[in-house]
Amino acid sequence: MDDLTVSLSGIVGLENVLTGPGELDRYSADALTPYRAYYADAAFDRLADIVVRPANTEQVSQVVAMAQRLGVPVIPYGGGTGVMGGILPVRGGIILDLGRLNRVVRIDPVSQTAEAEPGVILQDLYDALEPHGLMPGHDPYSVPIASVAGTISTNGVGYRAAAFGPMGDQVVALQVVLPDGRIIETRPVPKQSSGPNLNHLFIGSEGTFGVITRATLRVFRKPEAAEFATVEFADFEAGFGAVSEIAALGIRPTLLDLTEDSEGVLLHLLFEGYREGVDAAMRRTMSVCDAAGGWNAGPEPTLSYWKHRHDSALNYRQTALGRPREERWQRQWGRTFDYLHMSLPADLVLEYRRRADRMLEARKIKVVEYCLWSRPEFFSMLVVPDGDRRVVGRDGYDPHVRANLAAGVDEVLTLAQDMGGIMEYCHGVGIKLNHLLGRELGVNRDALLDIKRALDPAGIMNPGKLTL
Ligand SMILES: Cc1cc2nc3c(=O)[nH]c(=O)nc-3n(C[C@H](O)[C@H](O)[C@H](O)COP(=O)(O)OP(=O)(O)OC[C@H]3O[C@@H](n4cnc5c(N)ncnc54)[C@H](O)[C@@H]3O)c2cc1C
Repeated sequence: MDDLTVSLSGIVGLENVLTGPGELDRYSADALTPYRAYYADAAFDRLADIVVRPANTEQVSQVVAMAQRLGVPVIPYGGGTGVMGGILPVRGGIILDLGRLNRVVRIDPVSQTAEAEPGVILQDLYDALEPHGLMPGHDPYSVPIASVAGTISTNGVGYRAAAFGPMGDQVVALQVVLPDGRIIETRPVPKQSSGPNLNHLFIGSEGTFGVITRATLRVFRKPEAAEFATVEFADFEAGFGAVSEIAALGIRPTLLDLTEDSEGVLLHLLFEGYREGVDAAMRRTMSVCDAAGGWNAGPEPTLSYWKHRHDSALNYRQTALGRPREERWQRQWGRTFDYLHMSLPADLVLEYRRRADRMLEARKIKVVEYCLWSRPEFFSMLVVPDGDRRVVGRDGYDPHVRANLAAGVDEVLTLAQDMGGIMEYCHGVGIKLNHLLGRELGVNRDALLDIKRALDPAGIMNPGKLTL
């Protein structure tokens, strides 16, 4: 046994230190496959040196303090379901699996908050809240597999974000182990005017500034009324007009999803809350859609969409989660695609789409789905190579097709940046988008680096991520 294993065993117990090659392999990748990590292939060559499974905040603090002294990287690991390679140990080191910190500690129906440990899987939070007549505000596809702290650290977006916002908006207070082992706590009140709110240093930070060891989250009373609606539009522009008007009026359906695919353009809506509010919001929204040229397609398409919203994650849990990396990657063979989630000022979204369409068309890349998810500013495209799809090469596809897809993706992501927007609103940066983050941050990156150096002098917290 080497010195690191001995020291870590002294903190968490030998049975919670994993060093077997199989274990290191499966912990050293998330749901990102090498195929889609166009400019970061090399990141997959490195495995973690060791996996540690602490049981409480104190143990996390001791592990992190020791790593800071030794200059060994620490990578917090939640559900391992990220799609950008956020948990890849690009410089080796310790994978810190928070899965044993999995208790919902407190549910407070009066404050409408729940206090949870970082490794609680979202489905378990839903189940714990259910008997209290409560529910969380974050409802991504990955409810059955993603963790509380992982979703905070990527600031994920889900199906109820139109009303409740992304996961970061659910955070009331955090307990965090800083990179030197100190434990800090923010206070469980909805806002403060007593200095900056430190929660924001950790929301969307992909584990680069510390380890979240507890979170107090906003939770919501289960709605007394719920109404589903579907509206069909002749084109995306008409649907966009309706979505903008709904947002401007201040109507907040819980679900708002405008999707254009080969079947047409559909707006999926769900209104939840108290009866009178739901009825009024639904009536006014339908008249806005009618004025924008939409026609009512009834509740059924959205009901079915809602019922199946977690299917991809259930399938992922069954066929991929915890399996060896190569097995997980093979699952993707023959499925060449990319899913892009840009955010732009609302007035530029349609112009952005026109310009991105031209760029992708020139490269023979086909957009099979356009989507606005929860707000007019959140614009997504599902893209696939159009044309030559010969099955050759390691990942089952022609490397030229991959290189062309990679170039096309970068062109449209940088276009979003150049038009004043951002390249990703949902999944984080990880290793996949690291090469484009510097140009998006500009001088802001210097400020982030200064904070990073002050808090993490040895640079141990998830090094190489967010360009830090
Ligand atoms: C089938 C499927 C569907 C998905 N659907 C959605 C969706 O609808 N919306 C969406 O936003 N995402 C979705 N995702 C992506 C993924 O579920 C999210 O990015 C999720 O937020 C990651 O959570 P996790 O617990 O798996 O985090 P991980 O992958 O374990 O980690 C993500 C990042 O957070 C950091 N981190 C983890 N725990 C901590 C901690 N305690 N302290 C500090 N940093 C930490 C990690 O270091 C890493 O950088 C989907 C993924 C899959 C596979």
